[in-house]
Amino acid sequence: MLDLLFLGSGNAFAAEGRAFSSFLLNGRYLFDCGPTVLQQLARAGVAPGEIEAVFISHYHADHFFGLPFLLLDAKYGGRTKDLTIVGPPGIEARTRSLLELGYPGVLDTTAYSRRYVEVTDGFQGSIGELSVQVAQVQHVDEFECFAFRVENAGRSLVYSGDTTLCDGLLRLVEGAEVIVTECSCNDVPVHLSPSGVEEVARHAPGAKVIVTHLDGLAHPNGFDGLIVAEDLARYSF
Ligand SMILES: [Zn+2]
Ligand SMILES: [Zn+2]
Repeated sequence: MLDLLFLGSGNAFAAEGRAFSSFLLNGRYLFDCGPTVLQQLARAGVAPGEIEAVFISHYHADHFFGLPFLLLDAKYGGRTKDLTIVGPPGIEARTRSLLELGYPGVLDTTAYSRRYVEVTDGFQGSIGELSVQVAQVQHVDEFECFAFRVENAGRSLVYSGDTTLCDGLLRLVEGAEVIVTECSCNDVPVHLSPSGVEEVARHAPGAKVIVTHLDGLAHPNGFDGLIVAEDLARYSF
């Protein structure tokens, strides 16, 4: 089963009041973690303690700066289950720095353990029940940015993170069943345009494509099978 719960579907500017782009796969795997994470989990009726792994695509704040809140909740909300944090090079040091700035002491003497998994282009490994493959994507020069492909029991899903149309993403989507991809209707050089999304879809015939990280300027009209994510919407395949 691929069960996706969108916690947020907006870009960094809260277009249309959307929460920051983030979704929960099968109730346990969180993809990106913007600062609206706890509000949206609460609205969805999901306890943060149910999350087993967090995948961070890159270090922009709308994708990463929710982690202090999740870890704050973990410390004081009685979490005992281990938490895996998957992210770009430096994920442990950056997480520690962020907590040091915002909630010093929150990582000390916790009742649960954290495991950090650093990914680079071509990474393959297991996170929980997921087989994970990673490709570096082109978004901005300041950070290394990544897309994830996860598989479980023959089902496959790709999450683009923030990206432009690039080889890394096109390689990763081949044969994928579900693709969650960012989409920006405002022609900006660091994001994927609707025509870019169509190109991605052409590389994965038959895939269900869900667009997120929306800028609210217009909604992609799309093509057959295109789904425009909404906050708190749930899609099961
Ligand atoms: Zn973003
Ligand atoms: Zn970004």
